Amino acid sequence: MPKKFIKNFTIEDASSYFQSIGEKPYRARQLFNWLYEFNVDSFAAMTNFSKTLRAKLDEDFLISPLTLEERLISADGSEKYLFKTHDGHFIESVLIRRDDSNKERTTICISSQIGCPMGCLFCNTARIGYVRNLETAEILDQICQVRRISGIKNDNVVFMGMGEPFLNYDSVMRAAEIMNYSFGFHISVRRITISTCGIIKQIERYIDEKRPYNLAISVNDTIPQRRAQLMPVEKTNPIEKVARLLERKFPATRNRVTLEYVMRSDNIEEQDALRLKKLFRHSKIKINLIRLNQTALRLDPPSNESIEKFVKALEVMNVPITIRKSFGEDIDAACGQLSGKRYDHRIQITQLTKGIFHEQR
Ligand code: SAH
Repeated sequence: MPKKFIKNFTIEDASSYFQSIGEKPYRARQLFNWLYEFNVDSFAAMTNFSKTLRAKLDEDFLISPLTLEERLISADGSEKYLFKTHDGHFIESVLIRRDDSNKERTTICISSQIGCPMGCLFCNTARIGYVRNLETAEILDQICQVRRISGIKNDNVVFMGMGEPFLNYDSVMRAAEIMNYSFGFHISVRRITISTCGIIKQIERYIDEKRPYNLAISVNDTIPQRRAQLMPVEKTNPIEKVARLLERKFPATRNRVTLEYVMRSDNIEEQDALRLKKLFRHSKIKINLIRLNQTALRLDPPSNESIEKFVKALEVMNVPITIRKSFGEDIDAACGQLSGKRYDHRIQITQLTKGIFHEQR
């Protein structure tokens, strides 16, 4: 029988497993400390377990479902990790380092699917198409490996890598829950963000289930026809309906929903700001602006002047606005650029200069 991934276990699963083999249930907490707090990569390292127990675990389970294929380091300090899955597919994770009022804050951007079925035209991941959902263990192992290899304990986690997290709802929620365990990574729920292109049924389920993590929605446009051209999800899940759902259901006691808005040259007129304001006027939101990164589809990014004007026009909404700085563009690690290099035969790494790999097309 093939070994199971131990990182698919919740604390309850681990407790029942230990009981089933005649061990005390408190072993489960110890196991989670080893796996996530101490982040070990072998059962042999779990020294408060008997030799027999370690051997038994090793017989039944695998700790790491992913193997590192490549690590790229950008001039700005961000890092991109390419991992291979047990069945020969590739996913990417990004470590982002940024100074926040003299304190370094680090974020790991993780993938939730291999490829993505959503088909957003400005995003390279869509070009892979959909391969499969990641298991919880594969989601969590991205964090374990990035932490172990970089030596950095990230503060934040964002589900903004490859894939649509709300199409892999159960495994994503289970992974987020495990990240939050105090006997593990102990990442606060306010430091975990789940980003969706706007799948209404799943957003509703997320709200109904009172999931405590930050919610981000990729709005990117407010004109239905224009949004539908770039984000096919608009045809079945109009952003207007997403807005109405938030208005109706999102509790006032919760953290603001983040509206992500990728700025192109043609979606940041004053009228766009007014439409955004009108659409979300009754919802508890904040706005996160991202300048379009170059991907396979050559859309135009906006000028700095037009961005400034757009921000001014948005200020009348009286909600927090942040402009997300892009990281890792030189290593194709920025938003929209994750394509699992192995899927793109036109891209080859050919040179190593100043510690940075340059990809040549
Ligand atoms: N599927 C999820 C999460 C992955 S995308 C979602 O759609 O939210 C994460 C963010 O990157 C989204 O807000 C998306 O709109 C943005 N993005 C995609 N392509 C981009 C590009 N070329 N430039 C800048 N941001 C991009």
